Amino acid sequence: LANRFAAKKDGCDDTQGVGMRISSVEVFQLQPRGDMPRGGPNPGARSAVVIIRSEDGRFGIGEATPMYGGLIPLVILKRHLAPELVGKNVFDHAVLLDRLFHKYIKISADSALTAAIAALDIAFWDLKGKLFGEPIFNLLGGAWRKSIPYYASLGGCARMTVAETERMVAGIVAKHSPGFIKIRLDGDRSVLDADVTGDIEKIRAVRKLLGDAFPIAFDASNGYSPGRAIRVGRVLEELGYEWFEEPVQHYNLRSTGEVARQLDITVSAGEQSYTLQALGDLIDAGVKMIQPDIIKMGGVSGLVQAAALARSHGVEFVPHQMQPAIGHTANLHILAALPEFTRPAEFGEFSGRMGHLYGNLVSPADGQFQVPDGPGLGLDISEEEFAECRREIDLSTDELAA
Ligand code: CA
Repeated sequence: LANRFAAKKDGCDDTQGVGMRISSVEVFQLQPRGDMPRGGPNPGARSAVVIIRSEDGRFGIGEATPMYGGLIPLVILKRHLAPELVGKNVFDHAVLLDRLFHKYIKISADSALTAAIAALDIAFWDLKGKLFGEPIFNLLGGAWRKSIPYYASLGGCARMTVAETERMVAGIVAKHSPGFIKIRLDGDRSVLDADVTGDIEKIRAVRKLLGDAFPIAFDASNGYSPGRAIRVGRVLEELGYEWFEEPVQHYNLRSTGEVARQLDITVSAGEQSYTLQALGDLIDAGVKMIQPDIIKMGGVSGLVQAAALARSHGVEFVPHQMQPAIGHTANLHILAALPEFTRPAEFGEFSGRMGHLYGNLVSPADGQFQVPDGPGLGLDISEEEFAECRREIDLSTDELAA
């Protein structure tokens, strides 16, 4: 028994259960073909991808937050995490990732490291699903639903006029018929309260455009001081908006809680929280809806834990998610398996820019997504397109850091 325990601690126990060794872990950016949606081939338009291959030739895919090309989590993955996983047992997935998290915690306990871990976790779930021949939602206990309604997440309103905001909303509603929308400010994060009067005009205009019955949410993108946030929040209440997202700077937990407690409308936050503990602090502060992102905090495992945390505290769990393919599909598996599903899934990637990389990109139809029910994530990956669009991470300064 002592020997068996020692073997288990080592990360792979061939004496019992199913064993499957990891043969390689690949870390790279994906640069889609064709026109970039953000005005050129900038790194922000790339995805930060990890592939875990098992010794039987199968693989799982995951992704980390692509902010600034995802380079920081990718470097952590390639330099520190990936080499430690080769040769380990796929089915020790949670043990391996918790060890890595605590081993490298001083890199950053709450951002790039948890995003790197998230990418691996998603890849592990995809791979395990393929090994068992089951979709991830079945590994999570089964699907409550396989059709997931979505809301169209429409950004950049801070830079638009009232008329431009109306045009953008009308265009998406006409083209895609979402049953729910959210408008986001996405203003200059270093300037608070830049145009509160203009924001209120846009909030009123969008309500008027869509009518009283249409569900709309508003995301301030951390743009207000607490007093101004409460003023805007009162307007949102008067107009029947569904929720008020990130009204003030996310790092100011006290004022986030103050705004949430002062208002009747559901105040939400959490897309910039990277640990379960940080989400717990938001709930304690008074936030009534948490929005963690699967590619930033803990992957599938992290989001399942976050859902349990929300449920135990009686707050809503409505994940943030804006990626075109991997994070998006992983998120849908969570929502399929969620007992308490209160709001639609976020979707903001109408360009289809990553579509050529997959045979079955999960796209909106009639206000819904159909969760793929193939093994793992169920994403049909074009190996040819992946090879073409793969961009390697250069660690040539390794000697300096050694
Ligand atoms: Ca947001």
